[in-house]
Amino acid sequence: MTLRLYDTLTRAKRDFVPVDPARVTMYVCGPTVYNYAHIGNARPVVVFDVVFRLLRRLYGEEHVLYAANVTDVDDKINLKAAQEGVPIGVITDRYLTAYHADMAKLGALRPTFEPRATQTMDAIIAMIERLIAAGAAYAAQGHVLFNTQTYADYGKLSGRSLDDMIAGARVEVAPYKQHPADFVLWKPSKENEPVWDSPFGPGRPGWHIECSAMIEQALGLPIDIHGGGNDLIFPHHENEMAQGVCADGHGTIYANYWLHNGFLNMGAQKMSKSLGNVQLVHDLVREAPPEALRWALLSSHYRQPLAWTDDVIAQAKSALDTLYGALNRAGDVEATAAEPSEAFLDALMDDLNTPKANAELFALAKRLETGSPAERALAKGQLLASGPLLGFLQGVPQAWFHGGADADLTARVDALIADRIAARAAKDWARADAIRGELTALNIEVMDSADGATWKLKEPAA
Ligand code: AMP
Ligand code: ZN
Repeated sequence: MTLRLYDTLTRAKRDFVPVDPARVTMYVCGPTVYNYAHIGNARPVVVFDVVFRLLRRLYGEEHVLYAANVTDVDDKINLKAAQEGVPIGVITDRYLTAYHADMAKLGALRPTFEPRATQTMDAIIAMIERLIAAGAAYAAQGHVLFNTQTYADYGKLSGRSLDDMIAGARVEVAPYKQHPADFVLWKPSKENEPVWDSPFGPGRPGWHIECSAMIEQALGLPIDIHGGGNDLIFPHHENEMAQGVCADGHGTIYANYWLHNGFLNMGAQKMSKSLGNVQLVHDLVREAPPEALRWALLSSHYRQPLAWTDDVIAQAKSALDTLYGALNRAGDVEATAAEPSEAFLDALMDDLNTPKANAELFALAKRLETGSPAERALAKGQLLASGPLLGFLQGVPQAWFHGGADADLTARVDALIADRIAARAAKDWARADAIRGELTALNIEVMDSADGATWKLKEPAA
């Protein structure tokens, strides 16, 4: 079984062959920290978290290096800092802390490295100097620009010609540019903006060069996998690749596999801060179980668009009810497997087919409920080994059903259920009924089974 990944550059699904299996590298463009992350921002985080988990399984935990950067110099950060009258570090620290907490709730492992632009300034400046020395960049009016005319493969990643780019007005025309498609590596800071000294004059870096320098510093070229949302293919990744290749000498490979996730949409529009249609992870994790949000994010194939609706969340909850329910009812089954099922792994190895992998979890749950004793034992082990590869089923099944109940409510419900068992044993039916009524009033559903009673918090009435 070989991992196959769809590569945006070659536009094909290819066998994944790392440069060095003892040091597999992945870089994903991370957040710009000036606000809470929305659930669209969380899609690449969760998708590449699954890639990370899969690579760790295939090559060993210590052999996979995953870097996700933090963009902590940016116009939007500057604006927010100015509005609040605080240094940019106050803004970036606040939202980076929130980002870490929110993504941890969604079950994302922390990347091996989280380089920050402000802490990579020396490497950024050194890379620009190398580009100038190589004739791939030029200084003009306090700016340094990348000279797209010196890189024959410019446009190859996004499949655009220079003429398309100009016609599509995706490039900014400016008097200091030799060619309209040339892009900024360094620019003067405006008044009150953060500023760094450099051989090209005081100023700050362009966004694209930050990632190239962070990749070079954290991982080294070539990297195995470069990821991000598909909005980043052009211009961000096209420009990153151009700089990276030209700074390192022609013939260098920048990234061997380019992976891009599709967009999470609200109705006909993508979810985006600028459109103002965002749902923040920070809020959603209080309204729905975070594991269900993660399920919802993985319910479509990562390259497809994902329509974000209340229904997607409700379906995710019900899917996890089924899986945890099966595990809950199989508490006495002794698992006989410690490996994921083959069908589950096959699905993930085929360019991360998470909808198919999720369907296999259902098939395992069904076998766990209805199979022969030997089948049940195997299915339980496979379910418990498969789920965590996607970041699911890592909690105690009971905790899933009690989710939303705080410690006080849990203690009260457990005591009422114990009373009810005692009342029934004493054949005090009136008391048993009264307790059931109390539980119903607390919105608790009791599930009686051969080996006792379990309970869950019911959905609040809409
Ligand atoms: P940003 O903070 O806007 O730089 O975005 C961080 C990451 O989230 C990038 O990889 C984007 O491509 C990705 N992203 C932003 N919005 C969405 C969305 N609605 N759906 C999927 N990915 C998104
Ligand atoms: Zn980037």
